[in-house]
Amino acid sequence: MNKVNKYTRAKVDGKKIFCPSCNTQNLVYHFSWSAITCSSCKKMINKYDWLLDPKKLTLNKYFNEYKSTIMQKIHDAFNPKKDVVWDNEYKPNIKIKSTVKPDGNPTFNETFNHINKELNKLK
Ligand SMILES: [Zn+2]
Repeated sequence: MNKVNKYTRAKVDGKKIFCPSCNTQNLVYHFSWSAITCSSCKKMINKYDWLLDPKKLTLNKYFNEYKSTIMQKIHDAFNPKKDVVWDNEYKPNIKIKSTVKPDGNPTFNETFNHINKELNKLK
């Protein structure tokens, strides 16, 4: 694993370095700093901890990262922020007069034909 060292230099078009924490590529144009913040995970990383090549993640690590993202999304869905403005309020379509409770179990075609018939009445 090649890390940034005191001999690392940036080219005119910058140098790609990789965050040791989240593996995200960051571009720098010089190395006259002792630590910078990762553009992705916002962690402050010391200069000599930055990687010159991305970490090669094993399938298991990819899976764990994927899983933690999913778990976070599920957690967020069940724990919404207090100031969320819900925009999925039910607004009935005024064109719908009533709904029909079918007797029996209509096939897909029967349902389609019925919807088509009701639609033609509206035209
Ligand atoms: Zn990072």
